[in-house]
Amino acid sequence: MLLVSEPVLGEEERVALAAVIESGWVTMGDRVRDFEQAFARLHGAEDAVAVGSCTAALHLILHALGIGPGDEVLVPSLTFVATANSVLYVGAKPVFVDIGSAEVPLMSLDEAEAKCTSRTKAIILVHFAGYLAHREAWQSFARRKGLLLIEDAAHAPGLPEVGSYGEAAAFSFYGNKNMTTAEGGAIIARSRALRETIRQARAHGMTSGARQRLSSRRPDYDVTVLGFNYRMDELRAALGLVQLKKLPEWNDIRRRLSVRYRELVTEHCPSVMIPFEDPWPSTHHLMPVVLPPATSRQRVIDRLRKHGIQTTVHYPPVHRLTFYRDLYPEMLLPRTEDFSRRELTLPLHPRMTTADVERVVIGLTTALATNFPVGAVA
Ligand SMILES: *Cc1c(COP(=O)(O)O)cnc(C)c1O
Repeated sequence: MLLVSEPVLGEEERVALAAVIESGWVTMGDRVRDFEQAFARLHGAEDAVAVGSCTAALHLILHALGIGPGDEVLVPSLTFVATANSVLYVGAKPVFVDIGSAEVPLMSLDEAEAKCTSRTKAIILVHFAGYLAHREAWQSFARRKGLLLIEDAAHAPGLPEVGSYGEAAAFSFYGNKNMTTAEGGAIIARSRALRETIRQARAHGMTSGARQRLSSRRPDYDVTVLGFNYRMDELRAALGLVQLKKLPEWNDIRRRLSVRYRELVTEHCPSVMIPFEDPWPSTHHLMPVVLPPATSRQRVIDRLRKHGIQTTVHYPPVHRLTFYRDLYPEMLLPRTEDFSRRELTLPLHPRMTTADVERVVIGLTTALATNFPVGAVA
């Protein structure tokens, strides 16, 4: 089965993991610190904080920025549920904003402006599928409205401008992301003060870590803020150090495969729309395409599966998931809903070749040629 995404793990990762086990120091040691610094360097940032997941990263950022009950945070609905969940964790209200269009399925600035109230405190931008939101436009909007700008950069590690939009950015190293530590995440925060608050809150709010106490005369610590256990361990950091070295090359393979997809889909499936103009700054995390309105997506998915090709959907709109629908029963985001009904995510990962891309597009062409419109005889 050709999968939508697949981690690349090999001998180097095996050796790195074995070295941690042999060292006897398994969490929050030198490797975590090295990984933080290497991750920051790749993004042209001063420093980074490694955490257990991107969800933890988003929670820590909102917590450290003091966002809480009574506050509203603008979020897209075309995202993974964690973006909105993190807002609820701090007691604030996620306000869902529609996408601009199917061609540019990123949060609409006009809609964001329309949904701003006196309670709006922050915006969480998502670089959907790896395609970057317009930095200057959002920065000037945030400045004008006095809002904090946060990036959910789960799809976009490895580009220097990512992490430089606003106060902070959250990254994910989950198994299906552009680089993985199995589970894991990182934060880039612009100000040192915010970064240090986040670093402290990551480990129970303690003023020093186990490593520091080992090398210090003073065995004591204090807790001066509310904290969590959102630490990364040495095994994950060791994986991260190996993966990070390969990330630029993997992102480039993703880019080349995406270009080939565009050429072939345009030629063979002219009724299929590919979001975002080429070139658009991107880490090419996903390969989303939009099927014609009358197509039965399920039939396309089933036919591709028969050919050994997995496809998925990014995303079911967060506001339509049962938990959020119960919270926002009246919420309508027509462009997000239409996009989500027609979107299909094709396989894209660095283990693929252009021959795989050709196979997928042939499969898609066949599936569309034999497709019955929605509502036709079963
Ligand atoms: C994967 C993902 C997350 C959550 O990442 P975890 O590391 O699994 O917590 C958050 N936001 C987006 C957009 C994601 O794709």
